[in-house]
Amino acid sequence: MAGVDTDRFRTLLLEEREKVERALGNLHDENPGSIEDEEEETFDNHLGDAATITFDRELDSTLEENSGRMLAAIDEALKRLEEGTFGTCARCGQPIAEARLEAMPYATKCIDCKRLEERG
Ligand SMILES: [Zn+2]
Repeated sequence: MAGVDTDRFRTLLLEEREKVERALGNLHDENPGSIEDEEEETFDNHLGDAATITFDRELDSTLEENSGRMLAAIDEALKRLEEGTFGTCARCGQPIAEARLEAMPYATKCIDCKRLEERG
């Protein structure tokens, strides 16, 4: 579509991609040993702490899952840049607001469609 600075968004996407890949790499690097060790220390009457540890662990895997999904989304966006469909809402075909693309260059839908979707 006209008006989208594809070079700028390509740069944004590639930067974002690098960030996500680095975050993914960090997740694997710190692979925080065995959860048993951490839980042993907090076992007596510190259920709150144990819950926090479990929560952190779940957050990690969610993060990893999200990162994987985001990488895919970024690759898709790069493909759309090549195809010339970047910045067009996948649902209604209207242009996606540039401010939204700047914040989320891998967005596939305009804010209205996204809201509709989230409302279920
Ligand atoms: Zn839309």
